[in-house]
Amino acid sequence: MNRENSRESYDRALDVLVGGVNSAVRAAPQPYPTFVRKGDGGHVVDVDGNRYVDWVMGLGPLLLGHDLPDPVQAAVQRRTSEGPMYGMPTELEVDHAEFVARHVPSVEMVRFVNSGTEATTSAVRLARGYTGRDKIVVMQSGYHGAQESTLVEGDADHHAPSSAGIPASFAEHTIPVPFNDADEATRVFEEYGDDVACVLVEPLLANKGIVEPVDGFHETLRDLTRDHGALLVWDEVITGFRVGGLGCAQSKYGVTPDLTTFGKIVGGGFPVGAIGGRSDLMEEFTPVGDVFQAGTFSGHPVTMAAGHETLRYAAENDVYEHVNDIGRQLREGLQEIVAEQAPQYTVVGTDSLFKVVFTRGGEAQSGPCEDGCRQDPDCERFDACPKNGADVGRGAVERWNRVFRPQMLDRGIMLSQNQFESQFVAYGHTEEDVERTLDAYREAL
Ligand SMILES: *Cc1c(COP(=O)(O)O)cnc(C)c1O
Repeated sequence: MNRENSRESYDRALDVLVGGVNSAVRAAPQPYPTFVRKGDGGHVVDVDGNRYVDWVMGLGPLLLGHDLPDPVQAAVQRRTSEGPMYGMPTELEVDHAEFVARHVPSVEMVRFVNSGTEATTSAVRLARGYTGRDKIVVMQSGYHGAQESTLVEGDADHHAPSSAGIPASFAEHTIPVPFNDADEATRVFEEYGDDVACVLVEPLLANKGIVEPVDGFHETLRDLTRDHGALLVWDEVITGFRVGGLGCAQSKYGVTPDLTTFGKIVGGGFPVGAIGGRSDLMEEFTPVGDVFQAGTFSGHPVTMAAGHETLRYAAENDVYEHVNDIGRQLREGLQEIVAEQAPQYTVVGTDSLFKVVFTRGGEAQSGPCEDGCRQDPDCERFDACPKNGADVGRGAVERWNRVFRPQMLDRGIMLSQNQFESQFVAYGHTEEDVERTLDAYREAL
């Protein structure tokens, strides 16, 4: 496969863009990133003209794939031709907020922002403002964007910033606990409960995994927060309008958070974030309340049009049936391949998310988890399936990155850019894409 133009573009980029990229993960692929010329349905075409089945899908926002259906495309073009933005309200923002509030169980009011990072930053500020408390509890290896309050590593007793440039005094207020560890969360609340403003948690670990919750974990967090007067904030930036369809992961798992953060799909492929929740909480934001929140581009008309028409299209067509069915086919197919060729590895994912984690050790894949790990305690492999980010991190990461991913790329399959991120099914993917992908896994694993 000729990848000369990608290599040359990267060479040029290294002089003027830090690490050759504008977001760190894009530099992870070995030996250099693929530079994209265009998307087409479920595929991307690179600057050398190579075509790949694309499971990156913009890192999650592209529920429909690269070809926007006519109504979405028309709405985006109409908005751009009428002036890109105004700094004044539009009806579109109201339409989109109404749609979100109508479909997501815990949401009565919405504030749109411009990235998932902005959404989680604002949600944490809101929780602190509302409760008058400073501490927040997060999950180890959870991801909430590039923000000061959540870039923290360690455990509940010893934690520090995970990035240079963040004061240690910020990390002091952020308590990391392992995902799926109800006992540790309970212990932390016994010790710090009255100082905790919120628990910030992804419904499933989607940036280090995928790791699904074990039965009762989210219910424990719901009870702990309620009992201690803290807020439960679900970060649905990835799962929102993907896992659980239009009702999001909270409808699938049957847990009602106080606040929810959104991003990715809710902007239909344009920069977006949102915070949603009960109106008594949301009205703590300015201009009604005292928690400052603002943004020049917030509620951007092109983004609102793209997001709203995307979700309307999903509501009126078989989008979720299709992506979830393709996801299931992939996970089932992978499960068979893994059972035969790499029984120590774990197939993970749900709905339209899928991935093979290169776990070490563990028994043969058998038992009830047919289309990926469901954290079923009756499954033979229950103990071997990753329960938290550390379990995922102990996998054969170098093999995945240096040996496996390049082989998949050579076979025309674009996997996530590092071993830890989710892979996403879009409406544009076909059964032929599934077959090609499974064939490639079969050869490369
Ligand atoms: C992507 C992501 C974010 C950050 O969103 P950005 O738009 O990249 O700032 C936050 N939380 C989760 C769960 C994400 O997946």
